Amino acid sequence: MAKARKTPEEKPGPVITNPAISAAVSSATANTILQIHPITAKYWSLGGASGWLGTNTTGILTCPDGIGKYQHYVNGSIYWHHATGAHEVHGLIRARWSSMGWERSLLGYPITDETKTPDGTGRYNHFQGGSIYWHPSTGAWEVHGSIRNRWASLGWEKSFLGYPLTNETKTPDGAGRYNHFQGGSIYWHPTTGAWEVHGAIRDHWASLGWERSVLGYPVSNEEVVFGGAGRISHFQKGSIYWSPTQGARVLRQFVRVHVKQLVAPISFTLNEQFAAMQDVYATAGIRVDWSTTENLSLSTLEDVDVGGCTMGSVTAEQITLFGNRNFVGTNDLVVYYVRSTVPGYNGCAAHPSGRPGCVVVRTASRWTLGHEFGHVLGIHHVNNNNRLMTGNGTFNITNPPPDLVNTEVTALLNSGLSRLI
Ligand SMILES: [Zn+2]
Repeated sequence: MAKARKTPEEKPGPVITNPAISAAVSSATANTILQIHPITAKYWSLGGASGWLGTNTTGILTCPDGIGKYQHYVNGSIYWHHATGAHEVHGLIRARWSSMGWERSLLGYPITDETKTPDGTGRYNHFQGGSIYWHPSTGAWEVHGSIRNRWASLGWEKSFLGYPLTNETKTPDGAGRYNHFQGGSIYWHPTTGAWEVHGAIRDHWASLGWERSVLGYPVSNEEVVFGGAGRISHFQKGSIYWSPTQGARVLRQFVRVHVKQLVAPISFTLNEQFAAMQDVYATAGIRVDWSTTENLSLSTLEDVDVGGCTMGSVTAEQITLFGNRNFVGTNDLVVYYVRSTVPGYNGCAAHPSGRPGCVVVRTASRWTLGHEFGHVLGIHHVNNNNRLMTGNGTFNITNPPPDLVNTEVTALLNSGLSRLI
């Protein structure tokens, strides 16, 4: 047992006293090392014939490209190329690589041995042109190119996507490519790039016909909407929004909103107000794009005179206030956050002609923003506290999120201020 405790460093080397013999030994050792093929060195490092690869079933052979070399063994292969070194490939990963055409496939030569994934469950080989990942419950599948880059950026198999369930596959339209994963998919198209889609949003997109649907290919990953509970994925021709209250909704139109902040809101954050507006406007299939935010130093307008707050009629102070239109394009909407209106309201949607926008006070309700823009887009008060357009004050809304009825949805969609994505 004393032998077992001895480390290699403790072993005395041969004592060679004759310089001629010493030189001969060095030369022989060097020659021997030079003559070991990298495949053989790798084989020995894995235990040789008594290791898990087992005995060789071929000699060291030359690949069809005339450059690389390989040797097959009972339980796997070692491939060598001067650009990659020698690496072993075995099991179902080797079977997948073989099915694709070995080193002549898009994957090229292995650049790693089979390696345990960080989660300890799966295995992978990286290759020059991509990777093959194996998991006991999914099998072995290749991932490469932009889709692999996207998967990597999300955290490989440790991401919510988990392990691949398919090879990269051509979409039915012939233009794009995708891999399905345990937790979702990554879709690629030459003009959009590669983006993940998952969960209820993916389910809804699938129900519409995937990339062949009116929405086309994804152009974003799934995103959180204004820091709230809503989630959104953008596609070429629209977005899919999901929230606990709305489920999945297709958004084909959008309004673009600019925030001009004279006084910061104190009852609800801007994020909370925009998240609430988006949740309601999803009923109408309208996406709320919060475009810019600008702080304005206009102390004389912080308590702004809105007169009777009647659509089509504005005061001199409203005309001055709504003249602040940095960044605002045609048909864009502007909300001015103030301390108060005179007389006092939560907000006021009266605006000068051609300058669609509203005023919201800092103590407004969560729903005021969407309510005032409802007026701007042409819908009117109702006496029903279940609805966004209640005339009884949006603090009295009883069933959040408040409703939009069909006639209101139609009016919002037909407003020139709500535009097709
Ligand atoms: Zn109102």
